[in-house]
Amino acid sequence: MNFATKAIHAGVEPDPTTGAIMTPIYQTSTFVQASPGQHKGYEYARTHNPTRTALQQNLAALENGRHGICFASGLAATDAILKLYRPGDEIVVSSDLYGGTYRIMTRVFQEFGLVFRFVNLADTAQLETALTPATKMVWIETPTNPLMRLVDIAGVAAITRAKGIQLVVDNTFASPYLQNPLDLGADIVVHSATKYLGGHSDTVMGAIVLNDDDTAQRLAFIQNACGAVPGPQDCFLVLRGIKTLHVRMQRHCENAMAVAQYLKQHPKVAHVYYPGLPDHPGHELAQRQMRGFGGMLSFELTGDSLADATQVMERIQVFSLAESLGGVESLCTHPASMTHASIPKEERAKNGLRDTLIRLSVGIEDSQDLIADLAQAIG
Ligand SMILES: *Cc1c(COP(=O)(O)O)cnc(C)c1O
Repeated sequence: MNFATKAIHAGVEPDPTTGAIMTPIYQTSTFVQASPGQHKGYEYARTHNPTRTALQQNLAALENGRHGICFASGLAATDAILKLYRPGDEIVVSSDLYGGTYRIMTRVFQEFGLVFRFVNLADTAQLETALTPATKMVWIETPTNPLMRLVDIAGVAAITRAKGIQLVVDNTFASPYLQNPLDLGADIVVHSATKYLGGHSDTVMGAIVLNDDDTAQRLAFIQNACGAVPGPQDCFLVLRGIKTLHVRMQRHCENAMAVAQYLKQHPKVAHVYYPGLPDHPGHELAQRQMRGFGGMLSFELTGDSLADATQVMERIQVFSLAESLGGVESLCTHPASMTHASIPKEERAKNGLRDTLIRLSVGIEDSQDLIADLAQAIG
């Protein structure tokens, strides 16, 4: 099946007891057994829930993977992946990444003895120098958050595969509609389903998709043993969100391109970071690796004044100033004080993340209204 058909149908069967076409919200904690151990595949809802099963199968299909595993949040999914490793194991991480991912690595798992090396993997050559015999995993985001750098998934995978190192890709920004890391050689895909998959800013959830049966079993064990599972109502919401993922993503891409082109020619805008612009350093890679350029972009005003940037973020009206991304409505974020505040200022600066950077999650409203809003806010 092709993507749009999978988004609507994969993993979803009419309810066998009533014929309901939509997957019911199985709001139950336990399942009745006819005789001890004799059940219909469901015992206790931390371990399995039918609404979650439908979503997990749907997500696996969208990422062209064998196994889908859902978690209470994107960071709960990240937490489960990091629990695959042992003290002394080294993990190389692309340095431009989601603040919460940086925080769980440096403030939680570093305490338990995992070793993290942050390098700019937009330059694949930097990977080789960061690897040691203890390296067990490479973690990348692409496009990166918030500077929209592109990392060459197939290029990185060629290196990790040869050395037996696991490659994990956070595919939240692209969504499976625009990019399928497993097809490019990655071992594990992780999502904050809170963002484009859910798509309506009404739930928090995470997901992992992978092919390897053993690792999938270990992750399912961690999911059950540690317990960070999503509730059935949230699984229903994400399942419903995914049914329009392809249609939403098309419009996110169109609108983001229109907004990027508008900002690009604005005399008060110094820099626009959007992989769809021909002068973006990752433009050609994005054309090769993605099926569109996505709905996320960042920009800086001329003069590099925090007061000017703040004024834009206070004046916007159609855009809302809020953390998060990927919903139907347009959002504007100040990474330095919001999504990336958990990364120390010096680390941010080393990475090229200025305090004056403004990040936009371009929604699916009318693009003319979005542009008019930015025009009045920038002045
Ligand atoms: C939001 C986000 C996360 C964390 O997901 P939660 O659902 O908020 O826990 C991880 N990675 C990226 C790229 C994100 O945008």
